Amino acid sequence: ALQDGRGSKVMHMRVGVRVRPLNAKESGTTHSIVDLSEGKVVQVLDPDEKMGGRDYLRLDRNKDKVYQFDHAFDPAVSTADIHATMSSQLVAAVMDGYNGSAFAYGPTGSGKTYTMMGTSSQRGLIPLMVHDLFAHAEEHSEDSLFKFKITFIEIYNERVKDLLNQPQEKESHLDVREDANKGTHVSGGGSKAQAALPRCRGALRAKLRFPVAGEGSKGQAALPRYQLAGGRGGGGGAQEPGSGVSSPQELMDNLHRGNLYRTTERTNCNEASSRSHAVLQIVVQATDRFDNQSKMSKLSLIDLAGSERAYKTNARGARQVEGANINKSLLSLANCINALADKTKQVSHIPYRDSKLTRLLKDSLNGKSMTIMLTHVSPAADQFDETLNTLKYANRAK
Ligand code: ADP
Ligand code: MG
Repeated sequence: ALQDGRGSKVMHMRVGVRVRPLNAKESGTTHSIVDLSEGKVVQVLDPDEKMGGRDYLRLDRNKDKVYQFDHAFDPAVSTADIHATMSSQLVAAVMDGYNGSAFAYGPTGSGKTYTMMGTSSQRGLIPLMVHDLFAHAEEHSEDSLFKFKITFIEIYNERVKDLLNQPQEKESHLDVREDANKGTHVSGGGSKAQAALPRCRGALRAKLRFPVAGEGSKGQAALPRYQLAGGRGGGGGAQEPGSGVSSPQELMDNLHRGNLYRTTERTNCNEASSRSHAVLQIVVQATDRFDNQSKMSKLSLIDLAGSERAYKTNARGARQVEGANINKSLLSLANCINALADKTKQVSHIPYRDSKLTRLLKDSLNGKSMTIMLTHVSPAADQFDETLNTLKYANRAK
């Protein structure tokens, strides 16, 4: 069974819900309809119900508006607290040789990127986990030699793009391969249309650049540089996938650079990247200094495409196809997670092959790995339908 560093059993799959605060605009025009109790139960009130005058009897009659999760985080909870509650265990499992994954799920604007990447004032789960990975490696450097490699890809419209190998003359067509040693991974082939840098990259760069260094005494300056694993792979090739990174800052720099090549909507830079899945994978190789045995594990961190329904945007043509593909991968992700979470073990077929996302994550979505799913909702009354849909999806993934 999966154990944490201290030998106690840990859960393979945990689902949390994070409710973001009302933003300045919303708090003037609408009110919050999401209420949490005991850190687990999420209640959604009808939009015309005021939080103060809550009617528990009515809630009881609407059981479908009460959901229970492993964790629920109200707007006051910091990302660092969420890390302590959910993702620090994931890091421990990965350093212990298990594969792990963390998904940010929710509609556009609900706070997925805020949670995963963070801002200059509040570090996201990715920099927090990266910090912990390197800190762990440093702590155990006398016993083991750690090497870190990353891949960072985008899945857009069921096509895979290597974000660390850009800009490219010809956009290479990547595919998901399975390998006995490397597990599931992305590898290159063919060629496609030109990949141009998004026009709004200046704005994106300004938005995406922020420091990773720790605020406390364990700043990244104190962390050593590790030996590169096989040099810069550059990705794309059929050989070893991934680029070696030797410090938290180098890893984050790569991530920020890759983010500049996310597929964007040219018409609206604010909507950039909401329609694609961003998958960062960190491969950890730990080689024991005494017996030279090495073990590999992989941490996959996924900022999923916005979960809002395609029909809401009055999608037509290409847009509709896009929406269908987003729904397809989110649906197959839910199906895989459901099948895995099925305690009765009656489901023997896990439908990994149904989408690129689940094919890629096959070796991280199984009984021998740890998964956390963090669902995001807006508390605004005018988001009632979206919030209910989101919680229903997350409720299935328990
Ligand atoms: P998504 O990635 O799901 O589309 P974002 O992460 O971009 O959503 O969040 C939308 C906006 O809300 C951003 O301006 C972000 O800074 C803000 N926001 C999201 N979550 C929080 C939070 N927990 N606290 C404060 N602001 C948040
Ligand atoms: Mg986002």
